[in-house]
Amino acid sequence: MNRINEVTIKDAISFLEEDVDAILWVDAAADAFRALSRKGMFVDFIDESGSYKELIEKLWFHFDKTMDKITGDYQVFIPTFGKFSGKYSRRLKIIDNDTPHAIQMTIYPVDDNDYLILLDELDNSEYMKDFFTTEKVTTIQNTYLFSMYIDIARDTTSSISITEISDDTVQASLKYTDWRMMIVNMIWPDDQPTFLERTDPEYLKKHIMPGRTSSFDCLMQNLEGKYIWVKLTFSRAETNNSEEDFRYVFMVQDIHENSVQLMSTLKKYEELASKDALTDIYNHGRIETELYNAIEIVSRTGRNVSIMMFDIDFFKNVNDTYGHAVGDMTLKHFAFMLGKYFDRKNAVIGRWGGEEFVAVCYDADADKALGYADEVSKMVSGEEFKVAGKVTCSIGVTQVGTEDDFNKAFDRMDKALYQAKSDGRNCVRNL
Ligand code: GH3
Ligand code: MG
Ligand code: MG
Repeated sequence: MNRINEVTIKDAISFLEEDVDAILWVDAAADAFRALSRKGMFVDFIDESGSYKELIEKLWFHFDKTMDKITGDYQVFIPTFGKFSGKYSRRLKIIDNDTPHAIQMTIYPVDDNDYLILLDELDNSEYMKDFFTTEKVTTIQNTYLFSMYIDIARDTTSSISITEISDDTVQASLKYTDWRMMIVNMIWPDDQPTFLERTDPEYLKKHIMPGRTSSFDCLMQNLEGKYIWVKLTFSRAETNNSEEDFRYVFMVQDIHENSVQLMSTLKKYEELASKDALTDIYNHGRIETELYNAIEIVSRTGRNVSIMMFDIDFFKNVNDTYGHAVGDMTLKHFAFMLGKYFDRKNAVIGRWGGEEFVAVCYDADADKALGYADEVSKMVSGEEFKVAGKVTCSIGVTQVGTEDDFNKAFDRMDKALYQAKSDGRNCVRNL
């Protein structure tokens, strides 16, 4: 008996009814779906009916293990993902209660708004193995998050691919100018002006020649809503018609880990470059910059800032009596005391050179600064320095005025210090 000659379309349909895990009917216009049948994992995973948008979110954006919802701004992609003008099929990976499932999804548009969706779990272990090992590939692809084609002359986007969501592309009919204004919300607020400037159609036309690429880095929200460092790249198509043809590939790459590492390295170098090797407080260059900036702040905002200079008294004697090495040790000890004292103040301290040190004290008028200087003076003269014993210093203080430039303020501080020296040392003078 040859069965092939007996079967009818009804047999085939009833087989599908028995065998396909889930059959859903969608009314996209009404944002609704209804499950005509559910079996296996879909009994729990999909409700009997509900919102079509939520269904898409669940099917496309199911994160590994967590069922976290995607963050608000990424919702702009959902209409893009939920529209079908032709038959569509793809494989999904759904993780339900820690168990991964490979799902074949097939979508048949019935008319403009109604779709029939078939969801079926693939149970052949060979296919499964294949499918789940592509995870490695996905991880590599994840270094780029997002790409699309843009035609600025026609103001269109096409073939959008979002690797964090899926690795196949979507033909979206989204205007580039609209897309840009939606995406800007995912960019870190401080980076938004740069984003708007560099993605502006006129900017792209003017600054990127055919065949050339341009990129910039900024912070952008990922699907979980966390801001990460990304590189945004526009690459313009080669063309013979550069007056009319403005087609670009746009790409977003995740460069977060590298950037974070690079920045911490740069920070370390910056620290190294601004430290004095002997005393480990700021060096001449760094404290000079601080002085310039502080004086600029005062002339701009009128904020209270005082500056002071410390000069160790008869330091030459320390060297002459105990040798240079003890001199160095004494300088280190002295700098350490200053550093510790000003660490608790809103102030910055550095080594100006030799046995001279400078402090920039913020939100300190002359009185407050004189208070600091007196405390330091007493602290130093009360200290027992190793080998060198008693050491004192002279201090010149001045409050920066709104009319001051660097030289004026610095000279006044220098004169105050000179006065402290000529008044017998181990004292504080203010000018
Ligand atoms: P005054 O009270 O007038 O400031 O007297 P002074 O001896 O402190 O001043 P002077 O400017 O004559 O001498 C500063 C000395 O500081 C001279 C120099 O040998 C010493 N000096 C400068 N830099 C260093 C250093 O890095 N290590 C050591 N050990 N000594 C230094
Ligand atoms: Mg000196
Ligand atoms: Mg001295």
